Amino acid sequence: MLKIEDLEVSYGAVQALRGISMEVNDGEIVSLIGANGAGKTTTLHAITGLVPIKSGSVIYDGRDLRKTDPSRIVTMGLAHVPEGRQVFTRMTVAENLAMGAYFRKDKKAIADDLERVYARFPRLKERAKQLAGTLSGGEQQMLAMARALMSKPRLLMLDEPSMGLAPILVEQIFDIIRALHKSGTTILLVEQNAQMALSVANRAYVLETGKISMSGDAQELLHNDAVRKAYLGA
Ligand code: ATP
Repeated sequence: MLKIEDLEVSYGAVQALRGISMEVNDGEIVSLIGANGAGKTTTLHAITGLVPIKSGSVIYDGRDLRKTDPSRIVTMGLAHVPEGRQVFTRMTVAENLAMGAYFRKDKKAIADDLERVYARFPRLKERAKQLAGTLSGGEQQMLAMARALMSKPRLLMLDEPSMGLAPILVEQIFDIIRALHKSGTTILLVEQNAQMALSVANRAYVLETGKISMSGDAQELLHNDAVRKAYLGA
């Protein structure tokens, strides 16, 4: 579904990605883990065209995303939930969700999806008329995910969904990730919480200062000594 080859990204003199290759297959949850500054967010930004690519390729559904206008990418079934939620704080919960469906024209299906999203996130339904900026951090993360779901994505890319959340909310967010996967959404998950990210994933990649240092079956990585030492505090 998504195939990245030899991707390089630089911010001026800083080379953030130094030739990474990875893929996400239909129906998988793939996690990308790594320390602060390893280049995880940059990878997602390069996929969605938010940062310029120096070299390499990003192919989604057989199409070269480097040649695709970033504004069209969402219409291709690829949704990105950025780090730090970034909901529209001065809009209500319901308005945020409507923005998620902005590029869709199928009114009936949008209404059905809204019901489905509210069923999955009852807290958001209760707060439909509340301004998003007044939601708690966990609720904002749920809103950011719910808004992305309103675009009806086939591939959902989540950037650090657990960041800054209390353990109980982290559990809830990961339960939702599992449920979304079960209902057929392919997921690329960027996380610093390696324990959770590896527990939920089929496969994973470890990013270290702009390079993939390890990759493979997520359960195997979870029990790998080097991974445990570096990322799991073992
Ligand atoms: P974190 O977990 O802390 O969010 P990350 O793995 O997502 O880290 P990135 O945000 O992708 O890391 O950053 C990778 C490297 O690129 C870092 O060294 C960072 O300082 C640098 N970088 C990121 N954005 C910019 C920018 N806009 N201008 C200059 N350097 C940048």
